[in-house]
Amino acid sequence: MHFIDVIIPIPLQKLFTYSITAAEANFLKVGMRVAVPFGKSKIYTGVVFNIHENAPAAYEAKDIEQILDESPVVNEYQLKLWHWISEYYMCTMGDVMRAALPSAFILESETVITKNNVNTIDESILKDDEFLVYEALHHQSSLKIHDIASILDKKNVLPVIKRLIEKEAITVEEEVYEKYKPKLVRYVKLDPHYTAEVELHKLLDDLSRAPKQRDVVMTLFSISAKTKKPVKVSDLTTESGASSSIIKSLINKGVLKEYYIQRDRVEYSGEETEASKRLNEYQQAALTEIKASFEKHHVTLLHGVTSSGKTEVYVKLIEDVIQQGKQVLYLLPEIALTTQLVTRLQNYFGEQVAVFHSKYSTHERVEVWNNVLHNSAKAKIILGARSSIFLPFDNLGLIIVDEEHEQSFKQFDPAPRYHARDTAVVLAHMHKAKTLLGSATPSLESYFNAQQDKYGFVEITKRYNDVLMPDIELVDIKDKLKRKRMKGHFSDRLIEEMQETLSEGHQVILFQNRRGFSPIVECNTCGHSPQCPNCDVSLTYHQYRNQLRCHYCGYNSAMKQNCEACGGQDLDSKGFGTEQIEGEVKLLFPEHKVARMDLDTTRGKYGYEKIITALEQQEIDILVGTQMLTKGLDFRNVKLVGIMNADNMLNFPDFRAHERSFQLMQQVSGRAGRTEERGKVLIQTYNPYHNILQQVSTNNYIDMFKEQMDDRYNFKYPPVYKQIKITLKHKDYNKVETASIWYAKSLRQVFKDYVLGPESPPVARIRNQFHKNILVKIPKQQSLAKTKEAIMKINNSFMSVKDFRSVRVVLNVDNF
Ligand code: ADP
Ligand code: ZN
Repeated sequence: MHFIDVIIPIPLQKLFTYSITAAEANFLKVGMRVAVPFGKSKIYTGVVFNIHENAPAAYEAKDIEQILDESPVVNEYQLKLWHWISEYYMCTMGDVMRAALPSAFILESETVITKNNVNTIDESILKDDEFLVYEALHHQSSLKIHDIASILDKKNVLPVIKRLIEKEAITVEEEVYEKYKPKLVRYVKLDPHYTAEVELHKLLDDLSRAPKQRDVVMTLFSISAKTKKPVKVSDLTTESGASSSIIKSLINKGVLKEYYIQRDRVEYSGEETEASKRLNEYQQAALTEIKASFEKHHVTLLHGVTSSGKTEVYVKLIEDVIQQGKQVLYLLPEIALTTQLVTRLQNYFGEQVAVFHSKYSTHERVEVWNNVLHNSAKAKIILGARSSIFLPFDNLGLIIVDEEHEQSFKQFDPAPRYHARDTAVVLAHMHKAKTLLGSATPSLESYFNAQQDKYGFVEITKRYNDVLMPDIELVDIKDKLKRKRMKGHFSDRLIEEMQETLSEGHQVILFQNRRGFSPIVECNTCGHSPQCPNCDVSLTYHQYRNQLRCHYCGYNSAMKQNCEACGGQDLDSKGFGTEQIEGEVKLLFPEHKVARMDLDTTRGKYGYEKIITALEQQEIDILVGTQMLTKGLDFRNVKLVGIMNADNMLNFPDFRAHERSFQLMQQVSGRAGRTEERGKVLIQTYNPYHNILQQVSTNNYIDMFKEQMDDRYNFKYPPVYKQIKITLKHKDYNKVETASIWYAKSLRQVFKDYVLGPESPPVARIRNQFHKNILVKIPKQQSLAKTKEAIMKINNSFMSVKDFRSVRVVLNVDNF
């Protein structure tokens, strides 16, 4: 008897075992996909995890439906990594599979429901919910389970469907289908028969009575002579002006042969590649030190100030690694994945660079996946965001994690809640490859690891070309207000500096840490501010659409004319966002071009690129933006950066708020004066004596690090302690409260004082679910594996309490 353990893309604690025939056992390999039955009528795509001869003890193994691949689509490194992720981040292999595979690889058992047209039924026998579904089928020929779930606004719709089937109102069909279709391009060539000169002459003679067809053949010759490449049908029709029916008749006659080539969507259009740059002495020293460090450490941290030329150092390392025939993964936060960097790397490495991006279509992702899987020359260097750690590398030589401090490397929702930087280190280790972490403002975690000699450490302290670090000035807005030196949110100093910069023909960037026009609308009569009906937050005012929006669930409504509570008409806006700053700038500098970059203006695949290009082309004089501005962008002509308000980031209720503020401000400052002229940064604040601001203005990373680490020691925070956050969610507040008290009490029996909570988070209700948080702190000497085991045990007993079964529990290891 032969069996396989299969990973199925649903959150099951254990792998499921299926039985296979001897022939199947012979053919199947670990990492191939199989279609398997699950539950009563479901069919899932699973990935074979192992093949063995041990029947499961607890149940009788079912047969698989069919084998879906001829060779593995997932390799053994990946399966090992999936396993590690599921253990470390406390989630199931199915969760990891969902995140790891392009969705086109997960064939879905989509239950399709159609109306039963064979006999008409008496509608009066249908209950309300049944009627709703039946009614919907009058407008749509078929519905899927999730359509029905949204029509009825509930999850478990199977009973309704079952009843409808029994009443013969509907029929159900199960179908598994392949979603991914490679894009094929149609080509034509002359039938080989005509390569002989005699035949060709004969053909042209024959065609003299069909001049249009003759034209087509002649055009085909001239295109292929010119390009020396296969000729696309589309090119042939444009160049010859012939209709497709003429080409068709040539094909029918056997003069032309048509064929198809699979075209990569993720295409590189450039031509020549250029040599990489000569490093200056600091870069060269760093490169030598990194190589030496790799002799001793798997991981090395490169701390290089902004514009020190880290990218060029990476390029040299990449050259070495691909020379050895190995693959390179270049990880970046999503937002920093700009055309700027892609172009830069493609100039050096041509089509060996492949990009993996969440804004790419699933088809494009599948192509990159296959290129990596087959170790194709087209994917030697993968430039990608978080999820590219899941690609099927089989010969990785180096991983670069650029901007390693970025919090967006951690996936927040759904599971697996993995940190791509930390996972990259594990992945590299599996391949016996090296990891280079790079940043101008390293995370405390990585810097701490370097200090402990767990990671190697290399520094570049000078900007490329000896450009000076920007001059940073703190502006006390409390004082400015008192002395009436503010216009709106602009101090006289900021206005002066802007005027000077603009008059010299340079550009300005203004940073504001909030999206929207003015986060909160408040009634001046009664103090009420409009709240989201689903979440415990105030709605944010967006001037552009004259809307109130919830940033947690997306709820929106038109801006109110009157206060909902007292009916008063005096509604005021508190706080300020990018939109309001943009409005004020336009009034202050009407003769200059102003643009805004935030989540609202950068939707769509190229939304972000358009703004960056406009800034590069100097079509924009002043750019107002959020965090998006901070990410590794290289603008030649920006000389002044204004930070509108440093206080709201510093006061954010999170233990990383100070570290993050430092990083953010240093990174935004880094956008100023990247060429010969020294840049200027103005930071407006109510509290210029705040330590972080002093450290930012003197570029003092070390002082920031030491002071923050003291806090982390004292308050038992990472990186000194590890922590796991447990969030319980339910729509009934009392239930989630009772449940969380039970959970925390059980944890305390094991972990004593190292358990904090339960506590309601600042936003206690999101999408109609009340949240409670519990935090488990784990001292360095305590075994992480044992800790998790104990938590899982408690979690399992929790789940077996009937009353708590409907409470959702989210485990977040190394939470951010
Ligand atoms: P970082 O990533 O450290 O912020 P970059 O790699 O973007 O810095 O380099 C900053 C600028 O200096 C870029 O415009 C880059 O082209 C230029 N540069 C860096 N190193 C060199 C070099 N060795 N030769 C020529 N130009 C360089
Ligand atoms: Zn909401």
